[in-house]
Amino acid sequence: MPRTRRVAVVGGGMSGCAAARELVMAGREVTIYEADDGLGGRARSWHRPEIEPDTGINLWFTTFYGELFERIKEYGLEHDMVEMRNSMVVVANGKPVNLVADEISTLVTYAHSGAWDKLRFLAASMALTAKRSKLDLFEPEQLAAFDNGTSAAEWARNTMGENAYQHLIRPMIESFWLWRCEEISQAHVMAMIANVVGSKFYVFGRGMETVAERMAGGAEVRLNTEVSELSVDGDNRIRITASDTDGGSVTDTFDEVVMATTAPVTAKLAASLPREIASPHLLRFAETQRYEPALSVSFLIDRGRMPSGEHIVPAGPGTRSVRSIITVPKTLITRDGRHIEKELTFVYLGREATRELIDAPEKVQYARALELAPALWPAFPKDAEPFHIVRRPVGLMWPEPGRYRRAAQLAREQRGPVVFAGDYLGCPTAEASMRTGIRAVNSLLATT
Ligand SMILES: Cc1cc2nc3c(=O)[nH]c(=O)nc-3n(C[C@H](O)[C@H](O)[C@H](O)COP(=O)(O)OP(=O)(O)OC[C@H]3O[C@@H](n4cnc5c(N)ncnc54)[C@H](O)[C@@H]3O)c2cc1C
Repeated sequence: MPRTRRVAVVGGGMSGCAAARELVMAGREVTIYEADDGLGGRARSWHRPEIEPDTGINLWFTTFYGELFERIKEYGLEHDMVEMRNSMVVVANGKPVNLVADEISTLVTYAHSGAWDKLRFLAASMALTAKRSKLDLFEPEQLAAFDNGTSAAEWARNTMGENAYQHLIRPMIESFWLWRCEEISQAHVMAMIANVVGSKFYVFGRGMETVAERMAGGAEVRLNTEVSELSVDGDNRIRITASDTDGGSVTDTFDEVVMATTAPVTAKLAASLPREIASPHLLRFAETQRYEPALSVSFLIDRGRMPSGEHIVPAGPGTRSVRSIITVPKTLITRDGRHIEKELTFVYLGREATRELIDAPEKVQYARALELAPALWPAFPKDAEPFHIVRRPVGLMWPEPGRYRRAAQLAREQRGPVVFAGDYLGCPTAEASMRTGIRAVNSLLATT
């Protein structure tokens, strides 16, 4: 009987765990290497037992996430889904106005845009919605056809005019995705708009990592194990060297490898492999990927002092010192067992402040967030209580103009025994990451 082929998956985020699931189903013996102490990667939430529900901000997902919904059904996780309101408070010139992007009634009363801007925005949204089946946000192969080098800003200005761009498109894109519309492909924004109409938004009550953990079922999971080197032995098998938390180093040998880390880690680790094993085109692409850092600074604020369960976002021209303020109603359980209603309030600072503060001490990060928050919400309480900070120096990769086209081409070129997965080969969402994992395994199975 032939020996079962051994496959290593380097990285236990959504892409790596989705790849592991496919490999286990294909009868491979699978080992996941994960540097962190749990699975889920950037999709992992954080937990603090003194608040209920005890997760912090959690990854959003929506009804157009096909693969994720398949897994939810398969694992019976429907009861864990918490529906979120898709509403914003848009602030321009100090004036807050409510907007639900796909609700015509709030668009009609939206005071930051005139009737003509709204009509042009609506017409563009309807035209894109009609093309929805050709504009899957998670399939670079489809987006490639729209990724002609035009930026999202140029597209929006040409299609609906300057004011609609500044007061409708920028608040919807830049506050959530952290990039600037000038820097990203029109294909990304077109696909977002095409799919968002009529969608419902959710988070998982216990965090997105519940799905990652289920997908890893059947694989051996090595947590706290950071891969430091890949090489090829005399039998053309791939040797992986990793360090564990005790400072020890372990080496193991595999027939095949799925690299499922962020682009910079992949570029560094796979660089030492021979070019016939690890595609030099893909490695060059990985080297050039840029990521926007994310710094989430949260405070506890008494209920009633901030709008509840809202995304507060800026609109209008110019750069932003604060990109968004998100409030989530929670119950705080005090040491003596009292229950106090609070608003867990996240402040996301603008690009310059984020870059400046990403490595600063937490005390400085809280102080600066408290100082800048009133630029977006003047009534932000000065006595807001610092609660939790999450920093991701490598946060959201940029879908620059042309990169979906390139990603589609590279996906077609993938060959075993080393294949690549990760959101940088799709777009920065849990769904796209999962699909890159599945695509990588399909390429592996087709070529080995
Ligand atoms: C601030 C922020 C908000 C987001 N919000 C949303 C959202 O609301 N909805 C949504 O769908 N998506 C969201 N995303 C995007 C989503 O989190 C990512 O696209 C997705 O989780 C990426 O998965 P991945 O597997 O490609 O990469 P990762 O999650 O980065 O996984 C890579 C894994 O590799 C591990 N690793 C790294 N180096 C090594 C090594 N040497 N050895 C072993 N393991 C290693 C890492 O620890 C990590 O677990 C958000 C991202 C950020 C940063």
